[in-house]
Amino acid sequence: MNQNISVIGAGTMGTGIAQVASTYGCSVNLIDNVPEVLNRSKSNLQSILNRLVEKGKISKTDSVNVSSQIKWSNKIEDVLDSKLVIEAVIENMELKQQIFTKIESLVSNTCIMATNTSSLSVTEIASICSNPSRVLGIHFFNPAPIMKLVEVIPTDKTDPILIDDIKLTLKGWNKTVVMAKDTPGFIVNRIARPFYVEALKIYDEGIADFATIDWAMKKFGRFRMGPFELMDYIGNDVNYNATESVYIGSNYNPRYKPSAIQKEKVDNGFLGRKSGKGFYDYSDNAKAQKPKNDEGLGKQIFKRILVVLINEAADALNSSIASRDDIDIAMTTGVNYPKGLLKWADEMGIESVCNQLLNLQSNFGEDRYEPSSLLIKMAKENSNFYA
Ligand code: NAD
Repeated sequence: MNQNISVIGAGTMGTGIAQVASTYGCSVNLIDNVPEVLNRSKSNLQSILNRLVEKGKISKTDSVNVSSQIKWSNKIEDVLDSKLVIEAVIENMELKQQIFTKIESLVSNTCIMATNTSSLSVTEIASICSNPSRVLGIHFFNPAPIMKLVEVIPTDKTDPILIDDIKLTLKGWNKTVVMAKDTPGFIVNRIARPFYVEALKIYDEGIADFATIDWAMKKFGRFRMGPFELMDYIGNDVNYNATESVYIGSNYNPRYKPSAIQKEKVDNGFLGRKSGKGFYDYSDNAKAQKPKNDEGLGKQIFKRILVVLINEAADALNSSIASRDDIDIAMTTGVNYPKGLLKWADEMGIESVCNQLLNLQSNFGEDRYEPSSLLIKMAKENSNFYA
C-alpha cells in the first residue's frame, strides 16, 4: 500500500497512526503546529522502534524504513499531494472544523479526509466542507500500532466507494475494521459505558469496595482488568470525559449519567496511574487493597454489570449502530472483552437476561435498567442472536 498520506496532530494518536501507516509502506507527513511536540513525537517513535528491534520483533532495516518514511513537519501545506489525510488534533469541534477547511483548500478533490475523533459528530465536522462526501471517521484505539480495531464511521453523505477504499487501506495495515453509525461513542465507547458507570453505582450503593468489584469481574467474567483498575489505567479524566460526552450526546440519557465519585477523583487530581493515585494508590509503599472473597457477592456483582452491558449492546444493535458481528468484534478487539456481549447473551439465555434487568428495574425503580425492546421481543419469540 504505497500511498502518500498525512496525519495532522503529532500527539499520542497521530504518532501511533503514522507508525502504522509507515510500517505498511506509506510515506507519511506527520504535521503539528508545536515544534516541541514534533521533536517529542520523533524521539518517542525512535525509542519504540529501538525496543522492537531489541526484542527481535522487527529488523534494524525495518526500523530505519519506518522512521525514514515519516516526515515531521509544522507546515499544513505539506498535505498537498496526499491521497488520505487523517486528522488527530485535540478533541475540539471548532479546531477540527478549521483544520478540515484548511485541508480541503489544499488537497486534490480525490483526497479522502478522515477524523480520528472519539466523541465528536463526524457529520458536524464534515458539514464545514464544500464536499462532505469525501469525509468520514476512522477511529483508532490507543496504542494505535498495537490495538487492531478501527471503527469506520461514514456520514449520510460519505461516498460509498470511498468507504470501500478506506476499508481496503486499513485491512492492508493489518487492522480489523468495523462499521459504525455516527452516534455518540460509536460502538466501543458507547457499549462499554456501563462497565464503568454500573461499577461506580455499585460502589456508591455501598454494596462492595473497588477491589471486590474488580475481583468479581476478573474472577467470574474473566475480564482482563476490573472497572476501577481500567479507569485508573485509562485516566479518570479521559474516562470521565468519555462518559460525559456520550451522556450529553445522547440527550442526557440516564444510562450514561457520569458518576459524582469519579468527578471528585478528577477534581482532586486523582487521575489514576499517571498521577500516582486514582481509585488505587500506585506509590511504592502503598498497601494492596484486598477484595472480600465472597463468591455469592462476586457473582451478583458480575451478573449485574454483565446484563447491563448486554442491554447496551442489544440497544446498539436495535438502533442500527452496527451489525451483530461488528458489535461483538468491536468489544473483543477494542477493549479485549473475553467474549462478544451478544454471544454471551445467547449463552445465558435471552429470557434470563431480560428477567435480571426487569428485577433491577423494579428493585431500584429506575428506567435505566429497562430491557431493550429487542431483548423483550427475542425473549417472547424464544430466539437467539446467533441462531
Ligand atoms: P494529544 O493531545 O496527544 O495530541 C493532539 C495534538 O494535536 C497535539 O500534539 C497538538 O499540538 C496538536 N495540535 C493542536 N492544534 C493543532 C493544529 N492547529 N495543527 C496541528 N496540530 C495541532 O491527543 P491524542 O490523545 O493524540 O488525541 C487526538 C485525537 O484522537 C482526539 O480527537 C482524540 O479524541 C482522539 N483519540 C484519542 C485516543 C486516546 O486514547 N488518546 C483514542 C482514540 C481517539
